[in-house]
Amino acid sequence: MKLEQVLKSQQLPTLPTVAIRLLDLTRDPDSEIRDFVDTVKSDPALSAKILKSANSSYFGLSSSVTTVDRAIVLLGTTVATSLSLSFSLSDEAMSSGPLAEHYRDYWMQSIVQSASAEALEEVGFKGLGADLFLCGLLLDLGRLALLKAVGRAYTPILDEAKTGPAVLVDIESRVLGYSHVDVGDHLMKSWKLPQSFIEAVRCHHLPATVILRKHQEANDGLCLPAAIAARAGDYFCTPAKGEALAELRELMRGAYNFTEAQITDFLARVDTRIKQAAELFNFDMSSLGEPTDLMEQANAQLAELAMREHVAKTQADARQQIIEQQKQELETRNRELQSQVLHDALTGLHNRKFFDQTLEQKVSKSIRAANAVAVLFLDIDRFKSLNDTYGHQFGDLVLARVAANLKSNLRVADMAARYGGEEFVVIVHQPTEKGIERLAERLRAGVESLEVEHNGSRVPVTISIGGAIAVPTRVDKDLARSLVAAADESLYQSKGNGRNRCTIRSLLNERDRKLVHDTTNHRFSRWLVQQRLIDVPTASRVIAETSHPHRPIGELAWESGFLTDGDVDEILRIQRETSRRFGEIAIDRGVLSYPQLVYLLSRQQEDPRAIAATIARLGVASPDQAAALLERYRQFTETNLAIYQTESAAR
Ligand code: GH3
Ligand code: MG
Ligand code: MG
Repeated sequence: MKLEQVLKSQQLPTLPTVAIRLLDLTRDPDSEIRDFVDTVKSDPALSAKILKSANSSYFGLSSSVTTVDRAIVLLGTTVATSLSLSFSLSDEAMSSGPLAEHYRDYWMQSIVQSASAEALEEVGFKGLGADLFLCGLLLDLGRLALLKAVGRAYTPILDEAKTGPAVLVDIESRVLGYSHVDVGDHLMKSWKLPQSFIEAVRCHHLPATVILRKHQEANDGLCLPAAIAARAGDYFCTPAKGEALAELRELMRGAYNFTEAQITDFLARVDTRIKQAAELFNFDMSSLGEPTDLMEQANAQLAELAMREHVAKTQADARQQIIEQQKQELETRNRELQSQVLHDALTGLHNRKFFDQTLEQKVSKSIRAANAVAVLFLDIDRFKSLNDTYGHQFGDLVLARVAANLKSNLRVADMAARYGGEEFVVIVHQPTEKGIERLAERLRAGVESLEVEHNGSRVPVTISIGGAIAVPTRVDKDLARSLVAAADESLYQSKGNGRNRCTIRSLLNERDRKLVHDTTNHRFSRWLVQQRLIDVPTASRVIAETSHPHRPIGELAWESGFLTDGDVDEILRIQRETSRRFGEIAIDRGVLSYPQLVYLLSRQQEDPRAIAATIARLGVASPDQAAALLERYRQFTETNLAIYQTESAAR
């Protein structure tokens, strides 16, 4: 049933005329006790109940009361009004029909809630006992209304709440989309009950944290006692005792700093009050458990809840740990696989796939920079007979030894890979013709002098090497392949010429050869080596540790003042049309001198400032010394340029 239908129902509880009149009197500042007395007396049944109440243990008056007049004077008009409302609710709750049990449950919980609210009079509500009592009694008015208006259809919800663990308000919201809070709110408004009661009903099921915050902000009226009373109601009357007790504790500690003893004491007072209220309303409350039993049940539930949470958390932690572990294993495995993809298992060198990728990158980079690229092919001599004579395992050992030896004889910036079988390749960093000849010879000699033994006697192992060097141009798109082919042919020559030797083929033309040679010798690191200021291994380390962002030659030329903006634009235009190199065009056009080009190319390959910084950072020299070296190098380059200018002027 929709909320609107419920609110329109003819079955909703009604307020008797007497109760309405009494409420009006309470609001009227001119009303006198006489008016109250007359009103009560107009209803004989109510008069009898008020008289009986005045003599009940609930109010504990000392002498017996025999007249309504006296009863109202002693009880006060507020209490009398509150009682008249309570009795009408009590009448509404009396049912002997099929829903009798649900009406009983409702009324029992309402009495518990009114007793609990009233027991809070001493914590800041002095003189408001009757209001608290009535407020508690009204909290679940909506539940009574739903019983009346919806009837049977409401019982599954009540049954679910009665068996737990969910509480009524949550089940209602889930099943109906509204709750007894909403119904009570509307009904009380139509009854024109005081706003403070309506507010209290509206917030009695709000979370404890919200209630405490409202309380801190003050002006929360009867909300806090309503919320506490609602928890006490659940604690005494429903299966969800543990949670109700926990929230009751939270509220009372948070709002009043109550100790556990004070809370227990509070519940004991409520229990006494419940029994007295039962007498007042002539209602059997004996089915309610004893305070100690209730506390035991609630604490047992809380302990179980805590245990469940602990177990759940422990399991979640364990699951998380397993997930972490699996993640780490997976990452390790991934790294291993990644490394396997690019490395050869037997020798630990890179594999052919990595070599191919690296060479392609190197070539495309060199196209821009006009750097030389070189490849060495190395092949173990008569390896098949080594295998045949000493066995495959020995062959594997030789492969590993040769690979390690190659690696130890290379510079950090060079890259060695196993090309396949007993063939290896090396990509040489910043090669020159002389440089790769020396490197190849060093590698050959290194393997030749290896001490490889089989059963105590030395087995000679040698390699043959073929190499190729080239400077890629923009038209050389397939340079990587032709370089590898040239190196392979050179290797074939070495084999043909008797093995254990090196053959290097240069694909450089005269002009490139001179340019590569001059540029190399002009680089800061090479100049340092030639001046015997640092040795070759140190120079390689410094180069490897320095990052070289690529800068276009035109930009460097403009920066050095060799070319104007216009020169650079014009050369770039020609370059786009002809695919020739920048330097070549500039020299042909006579805007750049050869030494200037050498100067620029060497600077493009190596930024002298960056090299000096690395020298200082690696501790090869102190920062001051590095600066002094840089200055001496600058003088060397300037002298070179000046000599050329003098020479060409003389010509
Ligand atoms: P050459 O001097 O002309 O290079 O003669 P070679 O015997 O070294 O050349 P060939 O290509 O005829 O033989 C290479 C042998 O290397 C054949 C092959 O069984 C062996 N081989 C290839 N890969 C491995 C390997 O991983 N382990 C071992 N033990 N042998 C291998
Ligand atoms: Mg071979
Ligand atoms: Mg071989």
